Amino acid sequence: MTTETANCVPTEFDRLGALEAAVAELESRANSQFRTVREPATRIRREAEELGAEELYQRAELLIASVDLREGRVGEGGQSAHRVQAWAERHDSSYLLARAHRQLSVFYRYVGDAADGLKHAVQGVALLTDDWPVSIRAQQLMALSVALEETGSPVDGERRAREALALAMAAGDHETTLLALNNMVYSAYENNDEPAARAMVAEMHEIQARTGHRFGANELDTMARVELMGAHYDAVEDLLTPVMADLVVANEGDAVAECLLTLALARRLAGRYPAAQAALDANLRICGQRGLAAIRARIREEQAALYAATGRYAEAYEEHRAFHADSAALLSVQRDARARALQAVFDANEARRASEHFREMAHRDALTGLHNRRYVNERLPALLLEAAAERRPISIAIVDLDHFKRVNDTLSHATGDTVLQHVAEMLADAVPGPALAARMGGEEFMLVYPGIGPEEAAVRCERLRLRIRAHAWGPITGALPVTTSIGITTSMDGHGTLSSLLAQADRNLYTAKRAGRDRVVGDIAA
Ligand code: GH3
Ligand code: MG
Ligand code: MG
Repeated sequence: MTTETANCVPTEFDRLGALEAAVAELESRANSQFRTVREPATRIRREAEELGAEELYQRAELLIASVDLREGRVGEGGQSAHRVQAWAERHDSSYLLARAHRQLSVFYRYVGDAADGLKHAVQGVALLTDDWPVSIRAQQLMALSVALEETGSPVDGERRAREALALAMAAGDHETTLLALNNMVYSAYENNDEPAARAMVAEMHEIQARTGHRFGANELDTMARVELMGAHYDAVEDLLTPVMADLVVANEGDAVAECLLTLALARRLAGRYPAAQAALDANLRICGQRGLAAIRARIREEQAALYAATGRYAEAYEEHRAFHADSAALLSVQRDARARALQAVFDANEARRASEHFREMAHRDALTGLHNRRYVNERLPALLLEAAAERRPISIAIVDLDHFKRVNDTLSHATGDTVLQHVAEMLADAVPGPALAARMGGEEFMLVYPGIGPEEAAVRCERLRLRIRAHAWGPITGALPVTTSIGITTSMDGHGTLSSLLAQADRNLYTAKRAGRDRVVGDIAA
């Protein structure tokens, strides 16, 4: 007789776990690897469908959409990104939603709707949380940076690029570091700041030398634009020839078109008019095939300049009109206004987020993550007033490590820090509800217990003292014990000041030390 057991074959649970890991890995792949994504993503999508794993299905779908966008199937990519966005909204999947917004931002940028591109990029960043992989956060910020620059906010765009650059560098993510640098070089080019642009290009080369990264088409295009500033037209050709020969990864759907536009401009400026015309003709074909309306408008502008350079003024004039009609359609007044309104909302949100972040940082101790003295100074007067209003007691305790200097002196300062961190964790555990723990400085901590009278405070501190001395210190301090002395005081009805309470708790602490340390002393014993 045979019995079926669940662990003979991979369970559905195992398969889901494996699929989830595979999707996450694809999502974290570098942009330049996009050609390696379609096949596994398609397989995952099929398996997810078989398993009825809808979210994984949608994540795979979005991966395929991103490849479509990069390969120039702009319409298909945009449509499926929209479907994924709708699904993620219905199912409250903020991670997927944020990623869908980023792809939609790329889509709208390609079709020439910079305002909608910005809207989606803003939403993609607004949904970001700190628990996302750093590289993915950096990429979402980069999408916003690009969208801001395209809607005429270069300063804001550069700020996001710098943020992304810092994140990517800290994470050792060369690909995204280069992406951010590339974007900043392009801004410097647009500001006609050749020295700044060249300095950053040198940095890009330095990273390439260190990591073996191969420059993609958009990076080469940026470098070509820098050469354009110095009128080095041959250098432009040298940089972009590999792109034209399809020897370079074009990891953006519009990268080849951008390169052709740069070539056309360089050739016109070098007086090589037929070659310039050839580049424009080739570019029009690509933009037509790929639906790249934004670049098509810029091709018209360049075409007008080329006609003018060759004395064909009537055609130049016609082309100019067509250019203005195209770009007017792309950037209608309403859309501009909408982009600015969104920008204002976004800035307000972000300013709030930043100030909350800094306020929180200013109130935390860096070593232990506990509140700091400044926080206690600001918070305790309010807690005393509350206690007074409700006629409730409030107890505070000062916790000081015994002979802590010995830990530093006989072991090391780093060991001392580790001890402080462990003690801080136990303190954090000892303050449920409205109670709080803070590091006042050095090896001295404070506990605040709103609503707690002297007996209960003594019980809690005694429990904490015993827990600290019983902690498994061996691996950290060897034979050296870690104990604490604690001085408690209570204001029965919220009367008193922070400094009078601190002074009383300190006196009790001193009594505990004098009596032999490793003990708790409250007002009753004082
Ligand atoms: P007592 O039992 O009387 O409190 O003795 P003690 O050695 O703990 O007290 P003392 O105030 O003489 O020394 C405190 C030591 O704490 C001195 C200093 O080296 C150490 N210390 C202060 N801040 C830090 C810190 O951030 N990290 C580390 N590792 N040590 C610190
Ligand atoms: Mg001490
Ligand atoms: Mg001390």
